[in-house]
Amino acid sequence: MNKETLVFAPLLDGFHESEPLRYRLITVLRALPIEVQRDFIDDPRFRIIKLRRRTAADAPLLALPTADGRGSRCVVLKPRLADCSESFGLYVIAHELAHAFLHNGPWGEFTDREEAADALAESWGFPRPEHLMR
Ligand SMILES: [Zn+2]
Repeated sequence: MNKETLVFAPLLDGFHESEPLRYRLITVLRALPIEVQRDFIDDPRFRIIKLRRRTAADAPLLALPTADGRGSRCVVLKPRLADCSESFGLYVIAHELAHAFLHNGPWGEFTDREEAADALAESWGFPRPEHLMR
């Protein structure tokens, strides 16, 4: 594990036997601006969780963030993000991380939170794939 990957180690906890999902997650984390990386790493409430295949019943119970910004701040990634094309997988991961960075809110001129997450993900180098264009 190189030094850079070590920085992200706390965020990669649940992904030890999850290639290529782990690799895809690292690829996106590395591409993030340093202030975004810091925001995630320095926030003890921030976690990235892998949803288990089939077993919806034992999926982690997520506490929703409260209006004052407290509460958990979780990104949940589905296993199929390891099976789909790399560009689609990276886009979805970046989009979900963008939601987390924006606390599920707007971004500048983008008042729609889905458009905000897409725009921010694109600014990080992970544009919405063409076939998903609305
Ligand atoms: Zn979204």
